[in-house]
Amino acid sequence: MSANPLFDLTGKVAVVTGANTGIGQGIAIALAGAGADVVLVGRSAMDDTRSQLQGFGTRVHEIRADLSSTAPLAGIVDEAVSKLGGVDILVNNAGIIRRADAVDYTEADWDAVIDTNLKSLFFLSQAAGRHMLAKGAGKIINIASLLSFQGGIRIPAYTASKSGVAGLTRLLACEWAAKGVNVNAIAPGYFVTNNTEALRADADRNAAILGRIPAGRWGKPGDIGGAAVFLASQASDYVDGVVLPVDGGWLAR
Ligand code: NAP
Repeated sequence: MSANPLFDLTGKVAVVTGANTGIGQGIAIALAGAGADVVLVGRSAMDDTRSQLQGFGTRVHEIRADLSSTAPLAGIVDEAVSKLGGVDILVNNAGIIRRADAVDYTEADWDAVIDTNLKSLFFLSQAAGRHMLAKGAGKIINIASLLSFQGGIRIPAYTASKSGVAGLTRLLACEWAAKGVNVNAIAPGYFVTNNTEALRADADRNAAILGRIPAGRWGKPGDIGGAAVFLASQASDYVDGVVLPVDGGWLAR
């Protein structure tokens, strides 16, 4: 239970995709810490996240689903409703990255990234949105990226998907803000997760990235939690369609 009622999520049910590791795990822990019951969704076992959620005294439910296709999406919302009584918060976090020069980029990599990062994000938002609109309340948080603002290199499908996430965040906010559903996004900067392993393993890229971050360090999954609690709570009831950078100042430079 949060000390400040503005940020208290007690009694709320949060669905977090890709919650077994990295940023999704950090968000699940932060939401449970603010009092939310959490539905952990993903294709891998959630044992590590489950063990880190012990002690909060909130309910935890796990749904194993492969989000590279739209097939499981409506069922995820139905199961969350039947097991925990509703969906108040959806965090669309699951995502993949495939790196290759634009001249060599394959259609298979393009489809894989767009299907998971953009198509499933939209149709899971639609399924949760139908439920939230019927109650007149809900919070959707999409995990965008610095590549929602910048071009990057060697990740054309990722940049297209995350630029698309920013656009969809604004579109859904425009359609649903007056109906009690807040749709916003968080754009993490460079975080230490599986997603960035290849960058950190490349000494030159690692030094170049670190040298540009005003905070002087990579982000840790715990650094994202405060923004997620804010966008999940009543503190953000009049915040719609923003893409909030949590990047140690990267975009400010
Ligand atoms: P991560 O550790 O690789 O986590 C990605 C998560 O997405 C994992 O839980 C992964 O599950 C899940 N996932 C991927 N494909 C899936 C599928 N088909 N079905 C179900 N789950 C799937 O990397 P992360 O950095 O925490 O990434 C989380 C989000 O943050 C992504 O959307 C990413 O684009 C975004 N992001 C990350 C950074 C960064 O610097 N790390 C920066 C900006 C944005 P598995 O573990 O089973 O693969």
